[in-house]
Amino acid sequence: MTKKIFRSILLAAVSVLLASLVIIMGCLYDYYENVQEKQLRDELRLASYGVEAGGSGYLEQLASPYRFPPIADFRLTWIAADGKVLFDTHVPAAEMENHADRVEVKEALVKGESGGVRYSETLTERTLYYAQRLADGTVLRISISQLTVFALAMGMLQPILLTAILAVILSALLAHRMAKSIVAPLNDLDLDDPLENDPYDELSPLLVRIHQQHRQIEAQLRALRRKTEEFEQITENMSEGLVLLDGKGVILSINPAARMIFHADSSCVGQGFLVIDRDHEIDLAIRAAREGGHSEVRAVRNDREYQFDISRIAADGLTAGTVLLAFDVTEQAAAERSRREFTANVSHELKTPLQSIMGSAELLENGLVKQEDVPQFVGVIRTEAARLVTLVEDIIHLSQLDEGTAPEKEPVDLLELADSAASALRERAEERRVSLSVTGESSVMDGVRGFLYEMLYDLIDNAIKYNIDGGKVEVAVSTSDTGTTVSVKDTGIGIPPEYQARVFERFFRVDKSRSKASGGTGLGLSIVKHIAQYHHARLDLHSTVGEGTDILIAFPRT
Ligand code: ADP
Repeated sequence: MTKKIFRSILLAAVSVLLASLVIIMGCLYDYYENVQEKQLRDELRLASYGVEAGGSGYLEQLASPYRFPPIADFRLTWIAADGKVLFDTHVPAAEMENHADRVEVKEALVKGESGGVRYSETLTERTLYYAQRLADGTVLRISISQLTVFALAMGMLQPILLTAILAVILSALLAHRMAKSIVAPLNDLDLDDPLENDPYDELSPLLVRIHQQHRQIEAQLRALRRKTEEFEQITENMSEGLVLLDGKGVILSINPAARMIFHADSSCVGQGFLVIDRDHEIDLAIRAAREGGHSEVRAVRNDREYQFDISRIAADGLTAGTVLLAFDVTEQAAAERSRREFTANVSHELKTPLQSIMGSAELLENGLVKQEDVPQFVGVIRTEAARLVTLVEDIIHLSQLDEGTAPEKEPVDLLELADSAASALRERAEERRVSLSVTGESSVMDGVRGFLYEMLYDLIDNAIKYNIDGGKVEVAVSTSDTGTTVSVKDTGIGIPPEYQARVFERFFRVDKSRSKASGGTGLGLSIVKHIAQYHHARLDLHSTVGEGTDILIAFPRT
């Protein structure tokens, strides 16, 4: 800006200077010309009086070389009416040609006087002349030669140039100082506080506008900051991982959950996604989302299974970036897996007894069974049918528990329930020569009577089934400040440590043939686990192979 102002001032100063020079010179020359014209007329008039009075003698006197100072500038020529030169102050009259055809002579003879200008061939000199008709009919002409404006200017070129250079230098210095002094207050403007400045009145509207814009920008910044904070607060506390990528796959934002999933820190922001994860599947899914709008992929990270939902962020129809959301689906995946396994197991468990029933029935139908063996085959059909009924009942109970469509809870005395379950199984215990006892105090809690009965029945049933001849089963109900605990303890075969966690899985049996032989479905303990969960009870299993098993269910106070 300083340079621009400097250039403008300098240009203006030089232009004004040159224009003034030309105008002044023009005016002076014009004035000088007028003065000279007037002088020339006056001198012609004086000379004509002299010639009329003294004839050529007067002119000779004027042209005398002894005269001081000699008349060098003016030239007087006396011409007869026929054009013959009678006298000339500069050249002998005899050497001069006839002047009859000269314009000024002709005009003077006709009009009495005449005047004009003649330029030299080089245009450097001009001759000013006047002619006057005298009383005797002759013509006296006076002329003076002088330099033209062009020649004058050329002659004065050196001083003019010198003056111009000096003037330019002076103008440059002044322009520099002026430009600096104009710009200095602008440089000192405090734009953080525009209204506090007042260097020039003309700047006031601009400063007011800047002030208003400041306020607008501040308000917008505040809103932006608030939104960023809100966004950060939401994403910081999200349990799902969130990664924002730009159109080229560069990380714009990554929340703590995502940092944990990908083992990354905040320094990854600004770098490509491949820096935090090189999984080809995820990379392909990001590309697919960029092109197709959405994609999903599952991958295991930190021993957990995650579903990555990737969506395109579009702005004005173009891909502005992608957002990647990571959900922990470990439990969901496990549930899906167990549901698939369960379906396969159910089909298998149903098929086996049905095949047995079909086989026995076909043999009977075709009369291939001896009369005395018929009861045995009918017995097989009955046992397998009973197994099917039990299995279907167990499946119905499990699906009820899965769906959460259990009946209302009611006050239930656990000791009373344990007594009735034990009574129902006493006969079976006696068959196996297993002693069965129920001890403890009456303990009433809120629960689903049917479920709790089934739970105690299954536990006592298992304790009898997997016991040894002459073994013991002890059911104890105890109450404390924390709640009620039921323990079903046996002196049976025990469960090997590696299977202790798995016995609660659906259809898992340690010894399949023993379970089947005793009518087990492999669903008993998983029903027990569900019922315990339904009542918010803790399930503990202590078992030693060859010594026995103790299963404890601790119900919280209701
Ligand atoms: P099942 O119908 O086969 O008894 P459960 O779900 O009730 O199915 O039990 C699963 C498996 O756990 C049984 O097959 C058995 O191997 C083992 N089990 C259950 N209870 C006991 C126990 N009290 N003592 C030893 N093993 C047991």
